[in-house]
Amino acid sequence: MAGAMNNEYEIFAKKRRVNQIVFGVFFIALIIAGWKYAIIGYFIPLCMLIGIGMSLFKGRKWCDWYCPRGSFYDAIVRPVSPRRHIPSIFKNTVFRAGVILILMAVMITNIIVLWPSFEKIGKFFVIMLTSTTFVGIVLALIFHQRIWCLMCPIGTMSSWLGKNKYPLKIDSKLCVDCKICGKVCPIEIEPYKFKNSPKKTVQDADCLKCASCVNICPKKALKF
Ligand code: SF4
Ligand code: SF4
Repeated sequence: MAGAMNNEYEIFAKKRRVNQIVFGVFFIALIIAGWKYAIIGYFIPLCMLIGIGMSLFKGRKWCDWYCPRGSFYDAIVRPVSPRRHIPSIFKNTVFRAGVILILMAVMITNIIVLWPSFEKIGKFFVIMLTSTTFVGIVLALIFHQRIWCLMCPIGTMSSWLGKNKYPLKIDSKLCVDCKICGKVCPIEIEPYKFKNSPKKTVQDADCLKCASCVNICPKKALKF
């Protein structure tokens, strides 16, 4: 039984990994091409719209399954990250709101200054994408590959707007506290800690809806 469950998880994990490698390589190509073709910079506002829009229905699902940068960190950077425990400051609401304010102020100021040059604004987006990705790589090399995903304005806004959407449910009668689910979570959530929550859902708005915990749980105690 345990073996069958492991195989099931391995198949799932392989699919997720392939998906992330494809998106991660696409992300690298995007940044390289962006330095030649400024229009590619408009990928940033497009991702903001899609990611935040999707959060209204699916929470942060965009961040795990579709965001090319999230995939880049998880599939390409993860092997060289020490994967240390994520410092609590990166989950702090005030800190995250501050990051959004700074990045939004930089973005709006530059758009106003560069207006109406479509080319220059596109180039600015490419510079912003490259520099913030660099910050995320440095944080990944010091701490954990997914730290940027807690600072990213799309991720933070999605966690606020999609807080109760597409909840991860936990059946307290089935859960045996083996804690395996917490070991596979890419963003260090421990689902079993929510088994006695009033709604029997994992109430952490940063859940990326990756379903790794759902697939590894030997008791099938988790589901969306
Ligand atoms: S893996 Fe399943 S049974 Fe184990 S602690 Fe998590 S929810 Fe409970
Ligand atoms: S709690 Fe489960 S579904 Fe949510 S991010 Fe962690 S492993 Fe993925």
